[in-house]
Amino acid sequence: MTATLNGPTAIGATVSRLRTTFDSGRTRSLTWRRDQLEGLLRLLTEREADVAAALEADLGRNAMGTFMGDVAPVTAEIRHTLAELKAWAAPRKVTLPLGQQPGKARVVPTPKGVVLVIGAWNFPLLLTLQPAVSALAAGNAVVIKPSELAPASAALLADLLPRYVDPAAVAVVTGDATISTALLAERFDHVFFTGSGRVGRIVLEACAKDLTPATLELGGKSPVIVARDADLDVAARRIAWAKTVNAGQACIAPDYVLVEDAVRPALVERLLEHLEWAGKAEPTRIVSEAHFDRLDGLLSGHGGEVFGGARERAARRFAPALVTDPDPDSALMQEEIFGPILPVLSVPDLASAVRFVVARPDPLALYLFSASQATADRVMELTNSGSYCVNHLLYQLLVPDLPFGGTGPSGLGAYHGRYGFDTFSHLRAVLHKPTAIDPSFAYPPYGPGAQKLLRRVMG
Ligand code: NAD
Repeated sequence: MTATLNGPTAIGATVSRLRTTFDSGRTRSLTWRRDQLEGLLRLLTEREADVAAALEADLGRNAMGTFMGDVAPVTAEIRHTLAELKAWAAPRKVTLPLGQQPGKARVVPTPKGVVLVIGAWNFPLLLTLQPAVSALAAGNAVVIKPSELAPASAALLADLLPRYVDPAAVAVVTGDATISTALLAERFDHVFFTGSGRVGRIVLEACAKDLTPATLELGGKSPVIVARDADLDVAARRIAWAKTVNAGQACIAPDYVLVEDAVRPALVERLLEHLEWAGKAEPTRIVSEAHFDRLDGLLSGHGGEVFGGARERAARRFAPALVTDPDPDSALMQEEIFGPILPVLSVPDLASAVRFVVARPDPLALYLFSASQATADRVMELTNSGSYCVNHLLYQLLVPDLPFGGTGPSGLGAYHGRYGFDTFSHLRAVLHKPTAIDPSFAYPPYGPGAQKLLRRVMG
């Protein structure tokens, strides 16, 4: 039994069924874990057309956009995890200090138990399956709650997952906030949430009742700083592309640009050229009328000049808009945009750009375009963000051994690769001492010789 389950009773039954499976010990073997990962890989390769059709229905995305955004990152994560699993899961040897010898110390990665993954709608497979890869690799049972705003993708996950992975250890529960709330009333051993800061706070409060550890993958306003020595053609092309991927509905999309005065006209001119083709090449719709209206609202009351932004509410199509010099206190510059609107603000110099960034909440991503390594290092040292990417955007997400996560209001904890494996593992400290050697000087009362020795080796 799997698939779509609603209502507190069914939810309670699902969680206990998964707990029974976990307690039986079957999820612990590396063979079981590999089978699950291979099942997910088969699902994504055999059923890629169904995945593409679901994303087409949910967001109007095309098949290549879905391959790049939802399929390829997960298959790459699975392949990387399969190659590294044995090493990640092995006990990690720890050297004992002299005063603790003899003995053997190890860190033993241990599955946490039954974990909950709550996903967002913008990359509905990526944001549920990628954490599930790490959770299963670490030997856990997993409940997945996809977003109700991507219903075709949620239904597809509920239908396909039980056919490709162990249905006694993986369940998909579909529904909205009420279902999420009912799930969070259950006891889990880890909760992994992707979504807004507003709901992230609700999730963390729910976790407090059982002291459940949580990972929060949130959003925010990710800035791009463009220095006067940047390659402006490449910068404009890459920024325009990253702003239009998925119609700007990406957590690490560039939110706004801070450009040095000296190169502002040249950058704006190139951005307008590149936004034009990039917008035409991107078929993705705005997810809902409510989000369309929110974006529409952001385009007024900011005091800047708007270029582009043609839109059609019935079709939820929104062409990229560039806004020069909006008021930093306007909603456009205060809220996460999460759509194809790109504010560009001039700053007299890089120091002002850095001050602008550090005066605001730590972003999920920070981008810099500059030809200078010294500038790249200096901006890195003076700022903080979940990730920092120089001279490109979004690709930091795809480097398998880089942690992915925010800091402060942009998130708590991280995943991807080994970081994901460790997130879903308890790193258990194990010390094993022999009994053959048991000198009396190690016990009180300590004589002068023992004191001298212990002072030398213990402190
Ligand atoms: P959201 O917070 O509205 O919803 C996320 C999930 O939480 C959904 O599954 C939803 O059903 C559930 N939910 C909604 N209300 C809830 C409640 N009261 N209690 C419990 N669960 C509830 O976010 P969204 O609109 O789906 O996604 C957009 C946000 O997610 C943006 O802020 C974006 O930056 C962020 N995001 C972050 C990442 C990341 O990896 N850091 C990735 C994608 C999106």
